Amino acid sequence: METARRAYDAIIVGTGPGGATVAKELASRKKRVLLLEWGSNDPITGTPWQAFKGFGIPGKEVLLTHKMLGVVRAVCTGGSTIFYYGTCFPTPFDMLEKYGVHIRDEVAEARAELPVAPLKDEMISPMARRIMESAVSLGYDWRLLDKYMYQDRWQPDFPFGYYGDPHRVRWDARMFVEEAVDKSAELINHARVRKVILDGNQAVGVTYTSGGSTHHVYAENIIISAGGLGSPVILRNSGMRRAGYDFFFDPLITVCGEVKDVRARVSEIPMTAGLHLEEEGYMMTDMSVPLLLDMLFTAQVFRFHRMFSQRKMLRIMIKAQDTLGGRITDRGGVRKRLAEQDRQKLLRGAARAREILQHAGAKGIFNSWYLASHPGGTVKIGDILDAGLKTEYDHLYVCDCSVIPEAWGLPPTLTLIGLGKYLAKILSGEKKAP
Ligand SMILES: Cc1cc2nc3c(=O)[nH]c(=O)nc-3n(C[C@H](O)[C@H](O)[C@H](O)COP(=O)(O)OP(=O)(O)OC[C@H]3O[C@@H](n4cnc5c(N)ncnc54)[C@H](O)[C@@H]3O)c2cc1C
Repeated sequence: METARRAYDAIIVGTGPGGATVAKELASRKKRVLLLEWGSNDPITGTPWQAFKGFGIPGKEVLLTHKMLGVVRAVCTGGSTIFYYGTCFPTPFDMLEKYGVHIRDEVAEARAELPVAPLKDEMISPMARRIMESAVSLGYDWRLLDKYMYQDRWQPDFPFGYYGDPHRVRWDARMFVEEAVDKSAELINHARVRKVILDGNQAVGVTYTSGGSTHHVYAENIIISAGGLGSPVILRNSGMRRAGYDFFFDPLITVCGEVKDVRARVSEIPMTAGLHLEEEGYMMTDMSVPLLLDMLFTAQVFRFHRMFSQRKMLRIMIKAQDTLGGRITDRGGVRKRLAEQDRQKLLRGAARAREILQHAGAKGIFNSWYLASHPGGTVKIGDILDAGLKTEYDHLYVCDCSVIPEAWGLPPTLTLIGLGKYLAKILSGEKKAP
């Protein structure tokens, strides 16, 4: 392939925390970077209407498994961090190091660069506090969690950005994209990448569609960061048929009950505090949800009389480390059933949550239906990728939640940012590929 066609040093597909970090890091090293993003770059309004434009399109932001379990992602600049809850969880270094991936320095850099800290006292809502006090008095090690929040920007009347945070209190990956663009990276939105262009054993470019037409772009390196559901589809279309099998999706349920003497604030922040029961394979946190999701959770389990009690609800989420399994279809559909042992794990957590809620004075306690929020492990390190995140093709890398090699069950963003920094160092020659 002639070098004249290599207009960029790197093409990065997808702008979630994986892709946005690689873009920012390479752009700050003066590399010519092109970012291709399927979704829009519309300013975040934080309104349900903006989010529902994506939720309403089948297969885009809310995907249903054949067992009717909902999997959520965001398709826009910033990826799923536009909807995420901003909780920072430590990286399981030992697990990654078994595969030769050493990212302690990069994760330390990420922590130093981002606004990571537990919430200050006035940001802790009465609901989260009530749950924490109850759990602690029952002997649980229920602690404040680190959050990615610019806490000095916060004001008590700012609603939490469930549908995106227009006040920019919560860090999201769009901020890294903006930094990359400021340093001359190019961003093309509404560009849906279909496949990688291969020349023998090398990747040389990608094909994308936009507004009904097809385009080809070329670069020295191609980095696929289309997320746990998006990346395997692109690799499969490019001939890597093993991508997209035996993945995790971190299933969750919530347990809630009504209290009479506390009311949730408009600025209720979810996942303020919690507990990780590693041996039991799940984590538990307080979990406020927006009105529409509360109504959906309530209607799904036929508690219609509770549909307008959102501000009085104490809610705990249980998120499990699920057994690897299932497949992503060629069109990006999710086929995975919740294994019985994973359902039992969630129910054991739910029983603990009930105890905590009862002790906190909640009445009419019930469980919500199942949901999943961190699909990953579809393009695993040690299987499809080597320890430098490279595929079997030269110049073709993957960097997002799909690379995680084992069952997960934790908020992954810090790890993905660490991996993004790691890959940028490898690509710019500062770190030797293992
Ligand atoms: C409701 C919710 C709450 C969460 N809370 C937390 C939390 O508190 N803490 C935490 O750490 N994590 C949380 N997460 C998970 C976290 O947001 C994701 O794990 C993380 O964003 C995954 O990053 P990624 O780079 O792998 O993919 P994504 O963030 O999904 O980004 C992938 C990007 O690729 C784009 N894309 C997809 N296909 C294509 C294509 N063919 N061509 C071009 N572009 C494409 C998408 O539009 C998207 O922008 C939450 C997730 C959800 C849904």
